Amino acid sequence: MASEREKIGWNFDDSYAQLPDIFFTDTDPTPVQSPELIIFNQPLAVELGLNAEELENKNGAAVFAGNQIPEGARPLAQAYAGHQFGHFTKLGDGRAILLGEQITPKGERVDIQLKGPGRTPYSRGGDGRAALGPMLREYIISEAMHALGIPTTRSLAVVTTGEPVYRERTLPGAILTRLASSHVRVGTFQYAAKWGTVEELRALADYALHRHYPDAETGENRYLTLLQEVIKRQAGLVAKWQLVGFIHGVMNTDNMTISGETIDYGPCAFMDTYDPATVFSSIDTQGRYAYGNQPYIAGWNLARFAETLLPLLHDEQEQAVKLAQDEISKYMKLYQNHWLSGMRVKLGIFNEEKEDKILVQELLTMMEKYKADYTNTFRSLSIEKPEDTVVFKTPEFKQWYEKWQARLGRQQEPKTSSLQLMRSSNPAVIPRNHRVETALEAAVDQEDYSVMERLLNVLSSPYAHSPEQDEYCKLPEQPAQPYRTYCGT
Ligand code: AMP
Ligand code: MG
Repeated sequence: MASEREKIGWNFDDSYAQLPDIFFTDTDPTPVQSPELIIFNQPLAVELGLNAEELENKNGAAVFAGNQIPEGARPLAQAYAGHQFGHFTKLGDGRAILLGEQITPKGERVDIQLKGPGRTPYSRGGDGRAALGPMLREYIISEAMHALGIPTTRSLAVVTTGEPVYRERTLPGAILTRLASSHVRVGTFQYAAKWGTVEELRALADYALHRHYPDAETGENRYLTLLQEVIKRQAGLVAKWQLVGFIHGVMNTDNMTISGETIDYGPCAFMDTYDPATVFSSIDTQGRYAYGNQPYIAGWNLARFAETLLPLLHDEQEQAVKLAQDEISKYMKLYQNHWLSGMRVKLGIFNEEKEDKILVQELLTMMEKYKADYTNTFRSLSIEKPEDTVVFKTPEFKQWYEKWQARLGRQQEPKTSSLQLMRSSNPAVIPRNHRVETALEAAVDQEDYSVMERLLNVLSSPYAHSPEQDEYCKLPEQPAQPYRTYCGT
């Protein structure tokens, strides 16, 4: 008889557990009463080399609830620290357990983690559990981000636990199965730098290099290369967020990965009306993580990362500081280059002209002044269908439009190529807040998952610009209250 391992396709490794002890604690999930698989990402399961049918119909609920540990898994909770809203704290997986690293048929190594599987040694006062709404929210937004082409953790499944969780009110409990190319964070390095020995820190850095930047492993100063590479990836990542109007909401250093994937979808949301001051998170009262601040915060977080590497960068501290500072000082330029290249693409521009930045800035200024919808403005330009909104009727816009057309005329590619390029980078649909809320309400209050399934389906091809998507491009009725998001802990 085929073993469960063969039948399901589990192919676990546990390289993280080979790190020094300070980085984790072996921890089993706490079984739940009556797990039910309510959403399952079949295509993703197949990519992992798993038997999707078997999981969906037989033991998926038990596995994704933590009631049954898959063969070969070694469940553990990871230790880390982090600056939360600028304040340094000891953290760790308080409500997450890593099952192991699945080696896919393509040979990729993917963390499979349960979020909400019960208490761990790092739970502090928390219950280690998660509520259904926030777990579905992470599922929807992370999968939408992936479809938008933005590096991100993925969502494989959500199970309800059949147990209540107690927050401001009683909510249905749930567990999300999250995939990541690893869960090593800036906060993991901060933990090592603060509480580990230099050798433990070095082990972590070598691990991160081997896992994420293997080309740099043998370089002359490989830890400097690690810093450079993480800076590059994060600069690229945050530029992508800005280009689609994504607001992470809680860019603490523990929520920034070394791999360059977006992680920890708590109070995140997409901006409707263009305004750099946009903040959705109810706890971000100072606007630290506002849309327009994200590039600076990423730079700040990277500086914290650089500090952790100082003992590895050079034997003499002064030299190490200089090396780190030199790299950090290059970040903003890198970010801006990514952003401007992305904006050129959004406007159908193939070549480079010095004045392009001004052209982009003028459009953004108009959008802010006339409270234009960020996504729909670029969509309108891409499908050559001006919307019936204020901005398009202003003389300023007409003037800008002429200037833009003239700019497009100064490149070899024909207009049709520009429009094609624009449609491939300006999404028609994003997970609009009111749509996400409606889907979550139906799921949580009525156990009706069909609204969410339709939404997920539409979000899976954001650049299709198909007629079926029109409905999902519409804005909410004028909201009485500004949209607010919550951490969902
Ligand atoms: P987050 O805001 O999700 O990044 O979480 C910050 C820290 O709080 C992490 O260490 C989490 O594991 C921990 N945490 C969040 N919610 C809970 C909970 N319900 N029980 C235990 N720990 C939690
Ligand atoms: Mg976190």
